[in-house]
Amino acid sequence: MNLNHYNTILNTIPPHVKLVAVSKMRPIEQIQTLYNVGHRVFGENRPQEMKAKYEALTKDIEWHFIGHLQSNKIKYIAPFASLIHSIDSFSLLQEVNRYAEKNNRIIPCLLQFFIAQETSKYGLSWEECAEMLESPAFSTLKNINIVGVMGMATFTDDKALIRKEFKKLYGYFVQLKEKYFSNHPDFKEISMGMSEDYDIAIEEGSTIVRIGSAIFENS
Ligand SMILES: *Cc1c(COP(=O)(O)O)cnc(C)c1O
Repeated sequence: MNLNHYNTILNTIPPHVKLVAVSKMRPIEQIQTLYNVGHRVFGENRPQEMKAKYEALTKDIEWHFIGHLQSNKIKYIAPFASLIHSIDSFSLLQEVNRYAEKNNRIIPCLLQFFIAQETSKYGLSWEECAEMLESPAFSTLKNINIVGVMGMATFTDDKALIRKEFKKLYGYFVQLKEKYFSNHPDFKEISMGMSEDYDIAIEEGSTIVRIGSAIFENS
């Protein structure tokens, strides 16, 4: 845990960009340390772990779910998740809606797009997304609020490739806004950028960066 790194990152990102401190696999004490200097937004990628941390800490923390979400685990996070970054299928979105309704909530969600060259990464294609948004079943979902898009670039040193992938996500955002969300002011978030590439992501229009190792590792 390195508060100097945290402060440096906080001071480099512009005020309109939200910093999600990715605390997956980090102990409660480290989250508490960041909390004590005023940080309130944390990201996790395992539902049970996020629930356990939510229960252990004060309730003014925003918990963002950032990993691949299995339908049978939505129940752990539906009561309290502030934002689900990783909607990667229509069936998942429908299940999130169902659990949100059970909890009397409207859960903010991001549509995760596949923009990388690695087959291991999850996400929608443009075609899948368009099909979903145009389907009659989509318009019946009252307990989710689509507030933007999310994507992960290829894990590589090739900065030009990373930039190209972020530009692609930004392009999807603009097209979606124009075509499907022009009357929806909440649709304004672009979640892109991690420890190794958040500077490029911000240059390409990111509004939310998800940073773990650069904050929590000492080196
Ligand atoms: C782990 C993770 C991050 C943070 O990665 P770092 O390289 O540690 O900053 C961001 N986004 C997602 C989806 C992750 O799983």
